[in-house]
Amino acid sequence: MIVARDLQRIYGQGTSSTHALKGINLEVRPGEFLAIMGRSGSGKSTLLHLLGLLDMPTSGAIHIEGTDVLKLSEKERGRFRLERLGYVFQESSLLGELTVLENVYLPALTFGQENGYRKRAAEMLQIVGLEERLTHYPDEVSVGEQQRVAIARALINRPKTLFADEPTASLDVDSARVVLELFGKLNKDLGQTIVMVTHEPEDEKYVDRVVWLKDGLVEKERLSS
Ligand code: ADP
Repeated sequence: MIVARDLQRIYGQGTSSTHALKGINLEVRPGEFLAIMGRSGSGKSTLLHLLGLLDMPTSGAIHIEGTDVLKLSEKERGRFRLERLGYVFQESSLLGELTVLENVYLPALTFGQENGYRKRAAEMLQIVGLEERLTHYPDEVSVGEQQRVAIARALINRPKTLFADEPTASLDVDSARVVLELFGKLNKDLGQTIVMVTHEPEDEKYVDRVVWLKDGLVEKERLSS
């Protein structure tokens, strides 16, 4: 469970400051697939970064799985983030000199034994439908497949919550659909909690709930039928 209370984020100071979030209250239930929508500049990415501990709010509180995460030291918060949260961004940012399999498990090696992570990486690549691509290099697979590698990489530590910031924005329609269906499958079959920022209205059909932001506040929300 993620609970955010009265989150505010002001960028900069004085006359040139931007009040990006003006008091957001939001809960994300375990196993939920939540989409955050709204026009450009409404605060979606800022909110995702705060919930995903990639940025700190100016004021407010965030509890993740019962931990008051803003009270943690920077080091503890970094560890919490690496061990419990996963991220997918618009660009997959894979390392070109590593194979698909290496891209998934090498970043996790700070946590433990290579053998365990190698096996888990192969399992994750099977889940995202890329078991035939393990020894390929990123430039030998499509952009949509690269994004699925990034999803497998984000899931290597079994994160409680997967955060995705416009994960389909650089994909063609068909690859975007494959990625969203994959998120749907991860959510339904594995109970993966997912918080996704998107500006695609049609993504609504894949998720449990949509929260719309407007000018740094929650404008409305809708549970999918
Ligand atoms: P969205 O994701 O909905 O497009 P953002 O969260 O990116 O919105 O931005 C919300 C507001 O905060 C916008 O006015 C944007 O210009 C501003 N903003 C975002 N990031 C920064 C930053 N690093 N520095 C200054 N202003 C920022």
